[in-house]
Amino acid sequence: MFDNLERSLTVAGTIEEALAAKRHGAAILAGGTWLMRDPRRGVDLPQALISLHALAGMKTIDISDDTITIGAAVTHEAIGQALRGLAGVEAVAIAASSSANPAIRRVATLGGNLCTPDFAAADLLPALLALDAIVELRAAHAPLRMPLARFLPSRRQVLADTILTTVLIPRKIIASTHVRLPLRRAGDYPVAIVSCALSSKREIQIAVGSVEDVARRWTKLEEVLSREPGGRPANAQIAASHAETCNDFEGRSGIEADGWYRRQVLPALVRRGLESLLCKEQSP
Ligand SMILES: Cc1cc2nc3c(=O)[nH]c(=O)nc-3n(C[C@H](O)[C@H](O)[C@H](O)COP(=O)(O)OP(=O)(O)OC[C@H]3O[C@@H](n4cnc5c(N)ncnc54)[C@H](O)[C@@H]3O)c2cc1C
Repeated sequence: MFDNLERSLTVAGTIEEALAAKRHGAAILAGGTWLMRDPRRGVDLPQALISLHALAGMKTIDISDDTITIGAAVTHEAIGQALRGLAGVEAVAIAASSSANPAIRRVATLGGNLCTPDFAAADLLPALLALDAIVELRAAHAPLRMPLARFLPSRRQVLADTILTTVLIPRKIIASTHVRLPLRRAGDYPVAIVSCALSSKREIQIAVGSVEDVARRWTKLEEVLSREPGGRPANAQIAASHAETCNDFEGRSGIEADGWYRRQVLPALVRRGLESLLCKEQSP
């Protein structure tokens, strides 16, 4: 419920200004697609909000031969458009273009997707995890870099005194894909998400979102797949069979689905992901 407190919205002119506002209790407002629905979750809206969209680099995507650098305030729509057709980052392009619905994708940002610890069904997380993405944060005195895989489980503490500025994707991946299972229709939160990537060392990397509270790499399955002859499964069905036997996920129960169901759909999503990945590898 909304109350009658006065609220302020400031557009930060410098990152230092944004950090100082945050230290004084202001919340970063990105697309607002999560934050502005706080009252529906019984959480009061913050009294002071600060936007980063006017800061240099926050809304740009830089594509070089070895890295793709994406500003935290770039929208899902812009990511989907910029990365479409780019070999290696297909998972991120698909995730950005298939999350929620077109109206939400026009405003929801990369930063908001990565900096919402209570949102387990975020699409960009597994896609970026499968690609070994790195996050760049700004702390009071200096920038700070860490692998996304380390950032995600520690977000609540890390974000207490930092702001996410950019995400870097090293271009070490040959092909990738992103498969999601919404329960009823396109706009629903996905029940489970599987992102798969084939590294330049020809290793399969797999990340899972929405099944547990925090998206993570499926390292147990990756190890088993790497022990297959030739270092990876000959076909998608073999990968799906391994996914059955090394399913170490603890499914979270929520409105959309029970935990056991989220776990159970994973082998089928792995099969679909690997079918698409192995097919991409074979195409010229
Ligand atoms: C009905 C509906 C369905 C949706 N379905 C999906 C879906 O299936 N998949 C999906 O991926 N997304 C989905 N979304 C969008 C989802 O809300 C956003 O992807 C994301 O979680 C919030 O992004 P935002 O830019 O709106 O962030 P905001 O709501 O503005 O902020 C979210 C949080 O992140 C913090 N934050 C934002 N930027 C930064 C930063 N740079 N540094 C530090 N903290 C920051 C804010 O302070 C806030 O705590 C859906 C949205 C709606 C409304």
